[in-house]
Amino acid sequence: MHELGIAEELLRAILPQAERHGAKKVTRVTLRVGVLRAVVADNLSFLFGHVAAGTIAEGATLAIETDPVVIHCPACGLRTEGDAIVLDCPACGAAGIGLTGGDDLRIVDFDIDD
Ligand SMILES: [Zn+2]
Repeated sequence: MHELGIAEELLRAILPQAERHGAKKVTRVTLRVGVLRAVVADNLSFLFGHVAAGTIAEGATLAIETDPVVIHCPACGLRTEGDAIVLDCPACGAAGIGLTGGDDLRIVDFDIDD
């Protein structure tokens, strides 16, 4: 249930910023979450709703963008996106492919009513 920790962290990050902007309500939070974080979007939305209850972020919608793993094969030049770590190139089977991304976890943006 690591989504709970993430939900609490999000709220801690959002509330001071929203208050600084004089927000009366946070209506929507856009997140970018890497596929390797193994975050279940529905769980995170539910738990965020739970921890945000009674704050100005109560009822805010979580919009979750996915950050894929980018696979790059130096052998055949393949560049593709995936949702898991792979060890061999899915096109030519070469080992030693490059993997980047997929581990993002950040707030992209949030909307407020002021
Ligand atoms: Zn390849």
